[in-house]
Amino acid sequence: MTAPLPDPDNPLVDIVFYPDSRLSKRCVEVAKVGPDLRETAREMLEVMYREGGIGLAAPQVGLDRRIIVMNLAGRPGAGEERVLVNPTVLAESRDTSETEEGCLSFPGISGRVARAASVRFRFQDLSGEPREVEADALFARCVQHEVDHLDGVLFVTKFSPADQIGLKRRLRELEERVRAGTARSLRRTREKAAL
Ligand code: ZN
Repeated sequence: MTAPLPDPDNPLVDIVFYPDSRLSKRCVEVAKVGPDLRETAREMLEVMYREGGIGLAAPQVGLDRRIIVMNLAGRPGAGEERVLVNPTVLAESRDTSETEEGCLSFPGISGRVARAASVRFRFQDLSGEPREVEADALFARCVQHEVDHLDGVLFVTKFSPADQIGLKRRLRELEERVRAGTARSLRRTREKAAL
């Protein structure tokens, strides 16, 4: 069962925040790469830039499709815009790196996450062509974080033991803020890459 792509007259506008259940579901494969998908990807990039992110996965705008957008420079006109359709991680390096991560769906919350230092992954580009790419450093981290989103895996479940301390309380506070409609104000309290 697949939901239709969003109506072009009713664009994606809002980031889905924790604890929305749409963030915890496995997204479905995109069957056809066409103009609708290209429009969706463009809108996702706009939302990502507006919110100050460097990566965004479809469920973060309420869409249950396997689509990721990213630009490690975090602004239009700089860096490289990437749209990954149906991405799959094929291989992960044995060495890992641990760095602090943030997530647009968890404003105000960040923690250290250990991930494979480099990955090889496969995806379809916006012409529907299958491609295979090797990524390392921030690119590899971003791909792993966003593919996790497509599988309904939240980054807080991967925080280092030290950063698990007090996490429940921080998540409860975020939940209250989301309910009160003030979660956005938590954003940018700390400067870091939001995925
Ligand atoms: Zn995220």
